[in-house]
Amino acid sequence: TLARSQARSDKVEADLAVHPENWRILTGDRPTGKLHIGHYFGSLANRVRLQDRGVESFLVIADYQVIYDRDGVGDIQENVLSGVADYLAIGIDPARSTIFTHSALPGLNQLLLPFLSLVTDAELRRNPTVKDELSTSERPMSGLMLTFPVHQAADILFCKANLVPVGKDQLPHIEQTRVIARRFDERYGRVDPDHPVFPEPEALLSATPHVLGLDGTKMSKSRGNTIEIGMTADQTAKLIKKAKTDAERHISYDPDARPEVSNLLLLTGLCEGSDPETVAEEIGDGGSGTLKKRLTASMNDYFAPIRAKRAELAADEGYLRSVLREGNGRAGAVADRTLDEVRRAMKMVY
Ligand code: ATP
Ligand code: MG
Repeated sequence: TLARSQARSDKVEADLAVHPENWRILTGDRPTGKLHIGHYFGSLANRVRLQDRGVESFLVIADYQVIYDRDGVGDIQENVLSGVADYLAIGIDPARSTIFTHSALPGLNQLLLPFLSLVTDAELRRNPTVKDELSTSERPMSGLMLTFPVHQAADILFCKANLVPVGKDQLPHIEQTRVIARRFDERYGRVDPDHPVFPEPEALLSATPHVLGLDGTKMSKSRGNTIEIGMTADQTAKLIKKAKTDAERHISYDPDARPEVSNLLLLTGLCEGSDPETVAEEIGDGGSGTLKKRLTASMNDYFAPIRAKRAELAADEGYLRSVLREGNGRAGAVADRTLDEVRRAMKMVY
């Protein structure tokens, strides 16, 4: 089925190039910490690309989804505002992309009640993320955690998004959303006889690079191995200097045998608009010291304008809040219209 998903996704990508107006995208992040360069190259840069192609985008900052699996992520409000600054600094345009917080949209959250009626307990327990949590975590499973695929469905369907950029691990969530959309149509019917209330969204599988952190494991904010988008050039240099490498002097790109060195090459390539093999050839026998110096310079060059913009934005909290207010207003109106349609389909208009 992965091959089938890939084929569908390729078809969508081709259509996006000619008919961006056919598509509406939902993406987002959980505000559990600072955004890092893994996020940037893994998903944020792709959002900017799609936005600039003219695809309408909704961007959810999923603050309600922070509370289901973690207590100690710090100040949610601060994470949210920092995320908005990151979005704007990397080129998300709030006039074209609607940035909103989950908790500010009662209409979106109210979709959970009918949606929950459309899924079974067994189905939820089969979701890979839920299953993983059930089998590996010592924490008791909360009702909120158990039902999180349904929240994601509400995030996607409230604005009738028909396209969701994801990694392959998230395909089951999209499938669950499609099931909910289909079952809503079967069980509750339509308002417009020619169209179901909800579209069945497609997954857009992007060839996202898997960025490793400075310790050679996946870059992840909970592992403390990140370079944040908003760090200074000095902080970046210090972190790269300490990054794990190996003792071999000859630099080569071999992600399986030499994950750490290959990751530094990958990042250098991404920052230079080149590829890791070429960078490796150019460094040759220069060793990891040369590689680190080159990555530091390239990364600091690449992120310099983004960081300058980010610093300006971060200093203007009033502006960041106004972007959210406007996004919440726009998304809230969309959510209310959808909820209204849902109530009409369910014959709950009084
Ligand atoms: P956590 O430690 O809480 O899991 P995280 O830093 O791994 O945080 P997530 O919220 O899990 O971040 O990731 C959000 C999305 O960002 C992912 O679905 C993926 O698309 C992208 N992403 C995160 N980390 C990376 C990475 N290291 N490389 C590529 N993409 C990444
Ligand atoms: Mg993660």
